[in-house]
Amino acid sequence: MEKIYNYGIIGAGPAGLTSALIAAEKGKSVVLFEKDKIGGTCLNKGCIPTKTILHSADLYKDAKNSENIGLITNDLQFDFAKAMEHKNRVVETLRNALTKSLQVKTVEIVEKEAKVVADNIIEAGGQAYNCEKIIVATGSEPKPLKDYPFDHEFVLNSDDLFELKQAPKSVLIVGAGAEGIEWARIFNDLECEVTVVEAASRPLSIADEEVSKYVERMFRTRKIALKTSTTINKIENKQVALSNGDVLNPDFVLVAIGRNIVKPQLDGKATVIGDACGQLMLANFAMYQARALVSGIHFDNVFVPSVIYGTPEIAWIGANEQDLPLGSYQKAVYPVRALGKAHCDNEIEGFIKVLTYENKIIGASIISKEASALIHQFAIAMQNEINVDELKKVCFAHPTYSEGVYESIMML
Ligand SMILES: Cc1cc2nc3c(=O)[nH]c(=O)nc-3n(C[C@H](O)[C@H](O)[C@H](O)COP(=O)(O)OP(=O)(O)OC[C@H]3O[C@@H](n4cnc5c(N)ncnc54)[C@H](O)[C@@H]3O)c2cc1C
Repeated sequence: MEKIYNYGIIGAGPAGLTSALIAAEKGKSVVLFEKDKIGGTCLNKGCIPTKTILHSADLYKDAKNSENIGLITNDLQFDFAKAMEHKNRVVETLRNALTKSLQVKTVEIVEKEAKVVADNIIEAGGQAYNCEKIIVATGSEPKPLKDYPFDHEFVLNSDDLFELKQAPKSVLIVGAGAEGIEWARIFNDLECEVTVVEAASRPLSIADEEVSKYVERMFRTRKIALKTSTTINKIENKQVALSNGDVLNPDFVLVAIGRNIVKPQLDGKATVIGDACGQLMLANFAMYQARALVSGIHFDNVFVPSVIYGTPEIAWIGANEQDLPLGSYQKAVYPVRALGKAHCDNEIEGFIKVLTYENKIIGASIISKEASALIHQFAIAMQNEINVDELKKVCFAHPTYSEGVYESIMML
């Protein structure tokens, strides 16, 4: 008799993998289709490789600037090829671990492109798979500039960066969102001349305006040229003309203007999750959606934290101040430089900003070392409706960055 799977899942990125693993843990039969590599964008071309290279670049920059705290780093050099090799090892280790988990949980992996050809039927490699439920988690791909497609030599996307053989001397980044800011800081750490152009009037336009102002200041201090309200007029013979009249000759252009949804042929019923559903393009959102779908837990996308990595980290959750009606909220901003731990670490930049309404936290933005961890203190409070007075009773260890969360709450 033909096998009927409880779940047929297309795409093995965070959304597809999480769905597959949870369904299998619940004793369901699962077939998972992947046309490229297990782990999807996040593991192979996104979160993990970027953060691994960033770590190498950050260490290099920190070491260079550490003489006054007692490090002697004569002849310090950055070996780009070794950093890339390390990145490959990290990705491979994690990919092997994930593949093993799928195997242990008896998820059937089909390494082929799949399509939904009818209700309950997925086809891959000329074979039909009968599935009671179909989940499409096919992710996204880099969005090109309208008139200048990726040529993968001069006009690059983030995938191409992982194939670089050496660090560039100068780069033009189009887009000052999360991806553009992360790569701008990586290349800047590596002493590359970086220019970022952004069509909007401020960088990181989805974040709180105070965060954008901080990014502008940080770019100025680090000598990263930022050109807002600016677009690309022309790219020709490795020369780029900007709408403000500037003409640049970078080693290459990194286009970081967002991503396009990828969807397979869909001629039958399916639930689409992750990047492919076109909402928040974040791995944590993709995984959370998958958990909600397969486990049936309540999902509220107000409480999805966003993080931009680098020094210092930038993180936010919930409301931005500029979107709230004047006088409808309370606000506290605590400077990181007031924290003992920040001075111990020589990382005094940034602030912790919290917005509240009737004693409840409705939004937070953090620029600080460890912001990626700190933001979850607000996430937990918001998700569980722990109010400001209750948070004031919590004992925070000293010296920590978490004390900044406490101090910001105490200002309210
Ligand atoms: C440079 C970069 C850095 C990032 N950094 C972060 C970060 O720090 N934090 C964060 O939260 N997010 C980050 N993201 C975003 C994150 O990678 C995505 O939000 C996440 O990967 C989406 O997961 P997904 O499962 O929906 O899709 P994907 O990870 O894109 O996986 C989709 C999978 O489906 C497969 N597929 C597509 N079509 C088919 C088909 N027809 N048949 C079979 N298989 C198919 C693809 O090959 C792919 O493996 C980053 C992205 C990039 C590009």
